Amino acid sequence: MKIRAKRLLLDDEFVSDQTVLIEHGKTIDIYPSRHEQVEHDVHYLVPSYIDLQVNGGGGVLLQEGVTGTDILSVVNAHSIFGSGFVLPTLITNSYRTMQQCTEAIIHARSQTSAVLGVHFEGPWLASAKKGIHIEEHIRAPSDAELALITDKRLGKVFITLAPETVPVDVIADLVAKGVIVSLGHSNATHEQVLAAIDAGATGFTHLYNAMSGLQGRNPGMVGVALGENSTYAGIIVDHHHVSPYAVRLAYQSKSYERLCLVTDAMAHAGSSHEVLPYFDTQITQRDGKLTTPDGSLAGSCLTMHEAVLNMHQDIEVPLAQSVIMATRTPANWLGLFELGRIGINIPSNLLGLNSELAITSHWRHGVLV
Ligand SMILES: [Zn+2]
Repeated sequence: MKIRAKRLLLDDEFVSDQTVLIEHGKTIDIYPSRHEQVEHDVHYLVPSYIDLQVNGGGGVLLQEGVTGTDILSVVNAHSIFGSGFVLPTLITNSYRTMQQCTEAIIHARSQTSAVLGVHFEGPWLASAKKGIHIEEHIRAPSDAELALITDKRLGKVFITLAPETVPVDVIADLVAKGVIVSLGHSNATHEQVLAAIDAGATGFTHLYNAMSGLQGRNPGMVGVALGENSTYAGIIVDHHHVSPYAVRLAYQSKSYERLCLVTDAMAHAGSSHEVLPYFDTQITQRDGKLTTPDGSLAGSCLTMHEAVLNMHQDIEVPLAQSVIMATRTPANWLGLFELGRIGINIPSNLLGLNSELAITSHWRHGVLV
């Protein structure tokens, strides 16, 4: 199969008038376009997106009783908006629900390559920065939980934890077992944050939100996130979670090679529902913003394509870099170097966009989704 593109994202830039030849799900050649019959013509051709933080979508939330079918529904809801690969994300919950989620993820992974693994956002957080996480479920790690999340069948396991709740030797042990440790929902001092990075934590969850802020004598988690160039950070660019000014500051400090776009999407994303249940309360969508009845921000209804367009059009970051923040950068954080990029002998996970930047086609391993 051949896809001819007016603008092809190759490495860090768009290249004009290129044709991609795909066989058995992989790109086997890329060459300057010529007069020939091709199966698909697109304006822009970019890698499909990778979303590290997806709590739900299409009306479905990862919660008590979650099944493999629920996970597949969430994957499908986000595929429409360009996410080829996701980490379904379980917010702080009971051990029983963590077990159900683990079983659901293993089942979903047997059905699709789109589920890269799982993101446990909690429960090992700090109550002081819990956001909408349920206080009664926030706790320190148990041996049973540590065994559960290091099940090899889960694929990539990404965990958001607060360094003041989890000892550095536990962080080091998780990292040694292949778990990706991201810091967040934390009121830690910058010394505690640096110690967690020394122990192997590699980044930060939804930068700025639910973490100790930056002050001159007290740089906090935000200060370390902006200051440590080797670390990654996810960021929610829906203009409700983070001011565009602060997004730009993060981009300038960390660059597009360390800052990842995430949606933090709840069940409302890709759904027409205005009100959906959340534990014993509910979350309401109004003007693209999700809140609980007391007005707290409650995740987003952002899609990854909107995040990319917001980064490009409102933060005025070049389109190539905006796309890389949703593709190669999250892939690199996960250590999956065959994802999030276009190249020879690399699986053809691709999005076609028209000249107005609307998604027109999506291929996973060379097959239209
Ligand atoms: Zn969160």
